Amino acid sequence: PRVLLTGANGFIGSHILNQLLEKSVFVQAVVRSKEKASKIAKDFPHAGKSKLGFSIVPDITAPKAFENCIKESLPLSAIIHTASPVSSATIPSEYIEPAIQGTLQILEAAHNYAPSLKRFVYTSSIQSVVNPLDLNGIGTHYSSNSWNPVTMDQAMSGPLALTYSASKTFAEKAAWEFMKIRKPQFELVVLNPPGVFGPHRNHIESTASLNASNKWLYRNLMLSERSTAVPPDTVPLTVDVRDLALAHYQAAFAPGVGNRRYLVAEGSHLNQEICDYLRTVLGSEWEGRIPLGSPGNYTPAPDAFKTDLSDAQEILGRAYRSFEETFTDTGRYIADLHQKS
Ligand code: NDP
Repeated sequence: PRVLLTGANGFIGSHILNQLLEKSVFVQAVVRSKEKASKIAKDFPHAGKSKLGFSIVPDITAPKAFENCIKESLPLSAIIHTASPVSSATIPSEYIEPAIQGTLQILEAAHNYAPSLKRFVYTSSIQSVVNPLDLNGIGTHYSSNSWNPVTMDQAMSGPLALTYSASKTFAEKAAWEFMKIRKPQFELVVLNPPGVFGPHRNHIESTASLNASNKWLYRNLMLSERSTAVPPDTVPLTVDVRDLALAHYQAAFAPGVGNRRYLVAEGSHLNQEICDYLRTVLGSEWEGRIPLGSPGNYTPAPDAFKTDLSDAQEILGRAYRSFEETFTDTGRYIADLHQKS
């Protein structure tokens, strides 16, 4: 089978690429420049041309942006679309345009030029599910039927964190709307992960190049001060990037999972629990930096965020990695990178 993967050089994208290559799937990796393609080739030296091809799409919002890249990748069984701005945007339109237009351009090209396509997998986010302005409000019991109610006016007036969550919401809505109106022959599968953690599969030189979620953990839960308060919990759910990569493979190939969205999370963990755990894993060297808070107090507020994760289990097809495995590997990986930086 052949899969086209956008954002193949990113944190999540490179783990998906790894997963697909391990499963002997041919991957056409889509990136924005030749330099980024060469970097992937270095990160996957054993893939070779028979397993891994590259397409360069410098601007995913341009009309017909994906036409050639889809034509040169045929016959495709699945497309996995992960490319979207996560932390690079400085003004609202830099989030909104690539998220929505990028998704619509690739869906349109898939519909027009990939007759054998069975699945289109979109990496959405928990941000399309929850209401970021009222996370702990009355009745916030989230499931894969929930939608972030953000409006375009709110998105355009910021703050940028809200604009990011809006970009994911609008892009996912646009994808479902496309399916309804255009009725393509393929199925859409949407994954809505929360905070994604784990070691990078793409080689990075320093902590400055960590992706946004790992960088948040590094700065706030590792590189802080013992006396600093543990940061408040917003969406207290986590998933290991390696499990998320497997979930993408399942979304592309597993029978019976099409035309649905899935919350993909191992479980609920407060920042206090992550800090306590990192302290035991990383030892005395990090003792003075990891916020102490109230060790062992993992009692959420009575009105706290609640989620139904039943479909999270369904898409993965096996148990998620444990909290301990994820945060041992994440903590050690980031601590090593910190020493080298
Ligand atoms: P990375 O920043 O590591 O990867 C982002 C990828 O998207 C890169 O390949 C990047 O390419 C590409 N990209 C960014 N902006 C643009 C643009 N304007 N045009 C074309 N390509 C672009 O982030 P992650 O791996 O963490 O995120 C990947 C996906 O997962 C995103 O869709 C994100 O919204 C989603 N997600 C991530 C979560 C997390 O906790 N990390 C949680 C939930 C969802 P380039 O290198 O060229 O910039």
